[in-house]
Amino acid sequence: MAKRDYYETLNVARNASEAEIKQAYRRLAMKYHPDRNPGDQVAEEKFKEAKEAYEALSDARKRAAYDQFGHAGVDGSAGGGFGGFGGPTDLGDIFGGVFRDIFGGARGGAQGYRGADLRYPLDLTLEEAVFGTTAKIRVPTLVTCAACAGSGAKPGTKPTTCPTCRGVGQVRMQQGFFSIQQTCPRCQGRGTVIPEPCETCRGVGRVEEQKTLSVKVPAGVDNGDRIRLSGEGEAGEHGGPPGDLYVQIQVKPHPIFTREESDLYCEVPIGFTTAVLGGDLEVPTLDGRLSLKIPPETQTGKVFRIRNKGVKPVRGGPTGDLLCRVVVETPVNLTREQKELLQQFAETMEAGGKRHTPQQGSWLDGVKKFFEDMKF
Ligand SMILES: [Zn+2]
Ligand SMILES: [Zn+2]
Repeated sequence: MAKRDYYETLNVARNASEAEIKQAYRRLAMKYHPDRNPGDQVAEEKFKEAKEAYEALSDARKRAAYDQFGHAGVDGSAGGGFGGFGGPTDLGDIFGGVFRDIFGGARGGAQGYRGADLRYPLDLTLEEAVFGTTAKIRVPTLVTCAACAGSGAKPGTKPTTCPTCRGVGQVRMQQGFFSIQQTCPRCQGRGTVIPEPCETCRGVGRVEEQKTLSVKVPAGVDNGDRIRLSGEGEAGEHGGPPGDLYVQIQVKPHPIFTREESDLYCEVPIGFTTAVLGGDLEVPTLDGRLSLKIPPETQTGKVFRIRNKGVKPVRGGPTGDLLCRVVVETPVNLTREQKELLQQFAETMEAGGKRHTPQQGSWLDGVKKFFEDMKF
């Protein structure tokens, strides 16, 4: 079978630099790697072809021979060349870079596994959420084992090079005619094994521990907001980097206020007389008391807006308002005398007619019309 020109195979110029050749090969390898094209014979053939071209052109001596003599210069079977390309090559190195990037695996190589991210629910009062606070939290977490400094090896011993993959982390499996690169099953790609595991962590390199952290909660946070503490999650395995800790804010219900975005709401019961005659009412705010003027003839359900007494949002923007909804309270437990006074009052009201109760009046008119319409 006639072989294609190596430069043509990699689709690079004859004077391509080493970096260009490597890049061209990475691109083809990503596209045709058997792991990404299972069972695809054409892809496998193309992968093999690209690999052969790369192996020849990435080696300065082989490339020079190829430039001078063509395939005969590098092909062992043609005699006079450099022999075949058997034996270990730097493919592992290439895949170490490429496939870890592509598949985004934390799996890998000498750097170990990244620790998991942790989530910690933090209960705050509304005041703490609005004004900010510093909270101490205790977090169960896996930390680097002090006994073995995270290596997992019994103190005094060391991890040794994995005998299966000879430290590469990848092994070649022969599948019929083709050899396929796979993560080493013995060391899971780390390239090292632990002959004598650390007794404290059983070889994992991490132990569980409670740690106390001080969390600075900024003013204005709300339910569901998260604060990220970088690197405060679980320790990595075998010396890998730690994960992050996410503190998730949960605001406890407040007896007086409810919050909606940057506004605060509260309900204020007012007396029947205050509603009629008006008056000054003391209302609570998160940072003290405030006098609210109730105008005469205030109806129940009326909402008074007090500017800038809400929440300053943590992400910026204007401070919200405090909205007070007044509810007229019907008096209870009246004495006989009080009832008599009200009775007298009711009589004067009746004398005044709809003048004192316009809402009732228009409602009664509406009801009357409704019944008339029904009669046809
Ligand atoms: Zn191995
Ligand atoms: Zn240990």
